[in-house]
Amino acid sequence: MTPIKTLKIVGKRYKLIYDAKMQDDCGQCDDNKQTITIKKEMPSDLELDTIIHEVTHAIDYQMNLDMSERQVHGVGAGLAAVLIDNPKFLEYLSRLVKGE
Ligand SMILES: [Zn+2]
Repeated sequence: MTPIKTLKIVGKRYKLIYDAKMQDDCGQCDDNKQTITIKKEMPSDLELDTIIHEVTHAIDYQMNLDMSERQVHGVGAGLAAVLIDNPKFLEYLSRLVKGE
């Protein structure tokens, strides 16, 4: 799958970096640099969980929510699980986004 290069998150453009050298973490969000770094070549379910987790961190920062790591983890893992368990949900959301 071709990874995307940027994500617009609450009006800010974050650059996505896929890094094969990441050791301890699966992902990292740097709000000052507006970058999200994802460990390269993870299993797809872990990559999904990680990208949603890091996007949740960016939303937390941009919306000034002051979420704890536990809250970010809960939202990220919860949304990833809902998407995995309901394959048609993403299609449905896509249609709503397009105004269909
Ligand atoms: Zn985190």
